[in-house]
Amino acid sequence: MSAPTDKVSSHIPLAGGADDGWSNEEEATSTCFCGAVQLKFPTQGPGLVRTYVCHCTDCRKITGSMFASNFTVLNTHLTHLRGRENLTSFSQSRTTASKSTMTNYFCSTCGTLMYRVTSRFPGASNLRLGTVDDFHLHETKLKPKLEQFTENRVGWLHAVEGMDQIAKLWR
Ligand SMILES: [Zn+2]
Ligand SMILES: [Zn+2]
Repeated sequence: MSAPTDKVSSHIPLAGGADDGWSNEEEATSTCFCGAVQLKFPTQGPGLVRTYVCHCTDCRKITGSMFASNFTVLNTHLTHLRGRENLTSFSQSRTTASKSTMTNYFCSTCGTLMYRVTSRFPGASNLRLGTVDDFHLHETKLKPKLEQFTENRVGWLHAVEGMDQIAKLWR
């Protein structure tokens, strides 16, 4: 069995309740854990803006893990294939570094956080790399290019080789 990075085509493993995720040369799907919510997004510019890992305190709490793996998509290029009505939103500005309001959109059924939108850039959504159905994309086109809020990185994790390191907020 070859390592994931050796794969040259899509790799859509059993992961959650849906089995209809897909990808092609330009687009791919992301789906929540139960399958109720599915998005379609571009895997390249201009609709795909950036890919990054975030170590901020919000991301630690929201993921229940030590960091989040995200990518930013322009809303003009983001399609809700199903389940938009099944998304619940939660907004707050107390803990964000910029004090801008961050709104989280998560599946009302299974709780998967599908994306976040900041009032600083209301025209874009920050999707979650782990919800992308084609795992091959996690290793290739959507692989994070930078790490931000590295000042909050947990002590037992090291910088990822080849990724730009930003102590606080990107831009
Ligand atoms: Zn769900
Ligand atoms: Zn963060």
